[in-house]
Amino acid sequence: MRGLMMDSPLLISAIVRHAARNYPDREIVSVTGDNPQHRYKFSDCIQRIHQLANALDKLDLAQGDRVATLAWNDYRHLEAYYGIGGAGYVCHTINPRLFPEQIIFIINHAEDKLILTDPMFVPLLEKIADKTPHVEGYIILTSEDQMPQTSLKNAISYEALIEPESDVYEWPELDERTAVALCYTSGTTGDPKGVLYSQRSTVLHAYAGIAPDVMNLSMRDCVLPVVPLFHVNAWGIPYAALMVGTKLVLPGPKMGDGETLYALMEAEGVTLAMGVPTVWLALLQYMEANGKRLDKLQRTVIGGAAVPESMIREFRDKHDVVVHQGWGMTEMSPLGTLNSPKVGMEDLSPDDMIAVQAKAGRGIFGVEMRIVDDDQNELPWDGVAFGALQVRGPWVCSDYYKLEGSADSHTDDGWFDTGDVAKIDPEGYMQITDRTKDVIKSGGEWISSIDIENVAMGHPSVAEAAVIGVAHPKWTERPLLIVIKAAEADLTKEEMLQWFDGKIAKWWYPDDVLFVDEIPHTATGKIQKVKLRQQFADYKLPT
Ligand code: ADP
Repeated sequence: MRGLMMDSPLLISAIVRHAARNYPDREIVSVTGDNPQHRYKFSDCIQRIHQLANALDKLDLAQGDRVATLAWNDYRHLEAYYGIGGAGYVCHTINPRLFPEQIIFIINHAEDKLILTDPMFVPLLEKIADKTPHVEGYIILTSEDQMPQTSLKNAISYEALIEPESDVYEWPELDERTAVALCYTSGTTGDPKGVLYSQRSTVLHAYAGIAPDVMNLSMRDCVLPVVPLFHVNAWGIPYAALMVGTKLVLPGPKMGDGETLYALMEAEGVTLAMGVPTVWLALLQYMEANGKRLDKLQRTVIGGAAVPESMIREFRDKHDVVVHQGWGMTEMSPLGTLNSPKVGMEDLSPDDMIAVQAKAGRGIFGVEMRIVDDDQNELPWDGVAFGALQVRGPWVCSDYYKLEGSADSHTDDGWFDTGDVAKIDPEGYMQITDRTKDVIKSGGEWISSIDIENVAMGHPSVAEAAVIGVAHPKWTERPLLIVIKAAEADLTKEEMLQWFDGKIAKWWYPDDVLFVDEIPHTATGKIQKVKLRQQFADYKLPT
């Protein structure tokens, strides 16, 4: 027997309608390229979303056509999310930090018809314009008077495009399985792969994100996403914030600038900020160097890479800020786990609590997890056994865009293979041991590069640390530790190695320590292990 409930489709336009009715006065504050500080209300934002949707409908676009964005986190980019996706087109966010060849590949693979771009990326687009023939026009995210001189065809300023349009819009009644957004993986191995989100997956993911033990998002919050709108929907914040009326603070091109981030947090009363560990390193270093303290921030969600214990400790001890670690990936919209304490953990000692927080967190309802061995046998959640981490759920991709199964990313019984290696403890806290391709295989056993990095990062003289496996005649591979010293710190290899005493197993100790000035990062701010491995391909360990 079927239930007798309405079959209302889950559409992002419903979020806009809800926000317009219920939170018209909530604010969105942005830093933009052409506007050091822009501030307006949800009601203004929504009127402009309607204007954009009306404008797009007049262009030569069919439903499902890809409309790309190449932009930082600001109010116009946010409007594009809803104006494009809500109207039935696909908002394809492009990561401007990718190499030009990758950007060309992505634009062509997606067959983008239009590109909405920040003015600062106009020179880049001009350089690649003859290699991206599908693109029919460019909308420059600025006002008419700030419009740069450009050879881009059919270029128009965003403000000139939307200005003549009505601020009332009739949203189309779409099927909830309609595609709404497209994001490519960073392509650390091989070509980037497109992940195509649906209206339904996006709304469900936003619902999941606001729950108390996930991001606990409400109208009482003010959120600063330092996670980019151009990568995995800024962890769903653009949708979740409008769903519950959260004030938004968007840092524009100043995402990596500790001083701006700090000033925004204090001035706007940011209660929750989110970002990858590298961004928070910059902020913590700025605050340390300038004797600043965070007075308003209550919590931060950090994910995208393992969070070192030292970072959790510094946020807690110096700023009274709780770190919630999260784990996810482009293919998962991205949320998979989030770290919140379980009932009964109130009495844990501060050190034991940090040990819990250093894990990636517990499964969010909607994402099922399992760990399996090489023969696909499920492994126990005992905190010891580790294996390939697989997931399934309504906001996990079922395939990549236009790859039709060729990526071999799913198991026969319908689980997505994340490419991560993990263990899960009896309380349900998952911990990433490594990416499958980064794990160090030493004498038939696995060593977690992440665990060694985390311990190294705890040393007061270490600014950043990375561990890779290098070839070893007897053990196949052994760990090599690469370290950037903290400013003016004095640290020897011997002191570094001593630091591991009692913290990790002896056979996990790095075989060598190298001090460098720079560690390469990916376009999303993570340590680029592939590049490091290339860089040290000929490196011979001391015997
Ligand atoms: P890419 O880095 O290729 O752009 P994503 O941004 O989708 O891809 O990153 C997803 C990956 O980041 C995960 O598969 C995992 O390896 C890593 N990651 C994310 N969160 C964590 C975490 N909390 N701890 C360790 N690794 C993490």
